[in-house]
Amino acid sequence: MHRLLVLLAVMSLMASDIAAGTAQTPPPKGDYPIVVNTAYPNDAAARAAWQPMAGSAPVSVAEVGGRKAVRMTCNFAGTNFERASWDVAVALDLVTCQGIQFRFFCRDWSPVSHFSLYFQSGKGWYAATFSPTSLSGWQTIAIPKSETTVEGSPSGWGKIERLRISAWRGQDTDVEFYIAGIGLAGTDASIVIVRADSAAPASAGEARAVSQFSQTVARALDDLDIPCLILSDRDVNAERLRGRSIAILPHNPSLPDETLDALVQFARGGGKIFCFYTLPPKLGPVIGIETGRHIAQQFDGYFSSIHFVEKALAGAPPVVDQKSWNITEAKAVPGRSRVAAFWYGSKGESTGHAAIVVSDNGGFMTHVLLGDDPAGKRRMLLAMVGHFMPGAWEQAAKASIARIGRIGPYDDFDKAKSAILGGADQGSPAGAQSAIRAASTARDEAIALRSAGRFAEALSKADAAASLTLNAYCMAQQPRPGEHRAFWCHSAFGVAGMDWDAAIKNLADNGFTAILPNMLWGGVAFYESKVLPVAPEIKEKGDQIALCVAACRKYGLKCHVWKVNWNMGSRAPKEFAERMRSEGRTQVRFDGKPENWLCPSHPENQKLEIASMVEVATKYDVDGVHFDYIRYPDNQCCFCEGCRKRFEAAAGVTVADWPRAVLRDASLRQKWLDFRRSNITTVVAAVSEAARKAKPSIKISAAVFRNWTTDRDSVGQDWKVWCDKGYLDFVCPMDYTASPAEFENMVRLQQGWAGKIPCYPGIGLSVWTPRGDICKLIEMIQITRRLGTGGFTVFNYAEFEARDVVPLCGKGITRRP
Ligand SMILES: [Zn+2]
Repeated sequence: MHRLLVLLAVMSLMASDIAAGTAQTPPPKGDYPIVVNTAYPNDAAARAAWQPMAGSAPVSVAEVGGRKAVRMTCNFAGTNFERASWDVAVALDLVTCQGIQFRFFCRDWSPVSHFSLYFQSGKGWYAATFSPTSLSGWQTIAIPKSETTVEGSPSGWGKIERLRISAWRGQDTDVEFYIAGIGLAGTDASIVIVRADSAAPASAGEARAVSQFSQTVARALDDLDIPCLILSDRDVNAERLRGRSIAILPHNPSLPDETLDALVQFARGGGKIFCFYTLPPKLGPVIGIETGRHIAQQFDGYFSSIHFVEKALAGAPPVVDQKSWNITEAKAVPGRSRVAAFWYGSKGESTGHAAIVVSDNGGFMTHVLLGDDPAGKRRMLLAMVGHFMPGAWEQAAKASIARIGRIGPYDDFDKAKSAILGGADQGSPAGAQSAIRAASTARDEAIALRSAGRFAEALSKADAAASLTLNAYCMAQQPRPGEHRAFWCHSAFGVAGMDWDAAIKNLADNGFTAILPNMLWGGVAFYESKVLPVAPEIKEKGDQIALCVAACRKYGLKCHVWKVNWNMGSRAPKEFAERMRSEGRTQVRFDGKPENWLCPSHPENQKLEIASMVEVATKYDVDGVHFDYIRYPDNQCCFCEGCRKRFEAAAGVTVADWPRAVLRDASLRQKWLDFRRSNITTVVAAVSEAARKAKPSIKISAAVFRNWTTDRDSVGQDWKVWCDKGYLDFVCPMDYTASPAEFENMVRLQQGWAGKIPCYPGIGLSVWTPRGDICKLIEMIQITRRLGTGGFTVFNYAEFEARDVVPLCGKGITRRP
């Protein structure tokens, strides 16, 4: 089975050298149904099919090892559009496949920040981003429908009218890439996941939730090697449900009537239905489960874990962690259904509320499936699915055993084992060796159990073996002395369930050297400030900078206090935010809508930004102050009346057609972009000067967007200048991509922009899916070492990272001497 839900299903193929025009290795022929045949006879035919977007260059035909491909050239040199794009008209029904795939080659895609693929359907789009992982040859890029997000109101996967490939500008350098053989990925599956596309347009938040919760279920099933198909709720009909076993509704706040009717018919014909969080009234009687009121948590941690009733659901784990904040009450119907699991609180007490109810026709979970405890979730889903599809157990056991060795750079267990054992000569710790031997024994047992048909036990053994392998791999990593190893901490109160002392000790014990705690915003401070409004909790919980700094001094960590600049933040007191607005100090968008950000050109706002950071630098024994949001929100800000006056004065112009002219008139636009940059840079320079004057040892740093060349225009963040002029002592570009190749590309560029000052790249540990992938973190850290950055900055230090990731780092990659 192709692991389709891994965004980049990469098949390593032989290297080719298209650059020289003497490519020997053709793109491999499609072993999948082709829907766009890219073997055009000549350029004219290719150009008739592929339309460039305004500014993009026309496509051409490339002959690669005797086979045809389409060449797409991104003309980024000397132009200023943000992406190169090409559209091909299609008439595709992608309803009953998992997604699409195609062959891709690009020799060096560093001028591109990332690629996107769009599917147009009616008045909307499905969109996905992708980053190639290989620079040496053709690879297969798979775009699963489950990984797409919704823009506008698409009319479902049955009516795809257009595909669009976009390459987003990274550098002002031309680059070309090649594609071949666009085809279908994945065929029929026994399980359908009904995605609530009809509910998505209600709000951006709803669209995100719909996409996220469908993906959580799809990924868990994919990890179990159980094929599933995502169906838009607009596409569900009796025909498309025929022959399937289970329909899953992961988060469906509403459903079209025809869809409900089709599901009812499906269930009457023997199909099983699992719903999460919302049970449509029409389906309740069919499944045999009743739902009631909405129940909010009584306190944080009220719904902390799901405890299964013994023997209620064969193979279910006894406990699965999930921190939910509310549920929909559910009841079993006597004679038809039973409660299989209850919610428990953080202190191990039962809430008495049902978490999962099952019947002979399906089941209901009283909240959505969240991404925490992925192993537990997989097992729970398997028990739910396996209840109706016993074959799923064998399939999952096989997949789990195969997964044991897929870790870090290794794609099977024997390779991982021999690498970890072979590391003994180079000082691979004894702990790593004994862990991998124990993993090997557990794996053998898992294989024997599977052969004996004891699949649930085989799965448990395989999970244990995987965990031992992970430990061995982490222990086998070597630290590099002298590195700057930092974590951002987004909460001013540190890590939930730990005080600052314990949180800092955990970092220090595991070899981290610095923390960047977010202690102030544009409109609120979490310390005793004389400049900014102070958050009311400080009275009770104490001055957070003082507490954090005390712990840092005790355990030898550096403390760089992080400010979210300009953005007042949701915790800013209402009176303060209203006063700023009434005094004309907040930003106004191009369309006239207000922003919750302070206007960077207003002299009083600049003073406030500077004074608050200097206050932190001088009042506390901090090692540094750290800028964030040190930019405009986007290119649509700020068009307040004050900006008009101050821009006209600064540029020596009178703008008649405000605000349109500053964006449309080319010479005004340049002046406008310079004006925006200088408003931001002024503050960086002033903080740097004043803080250093008061405390010469202080370090000034900033979290910045990753692509200086375009971001200096779009958000006015001219951070190369801040490095060149020495305003900063180090810079942390937020390189949160999950693609190591893209990360490496970006860091290499950023090192050039940072020049003489260190660039400690930001690693997006907590924003990846699944969250907190330690193997990927290790890979990214190894890239920073290969590039010689001297350190890195991880986002974000919270409960999960403190408990599950930091100690694993401490075993090897950041181990203390
Ligand atoms: Zn303004």
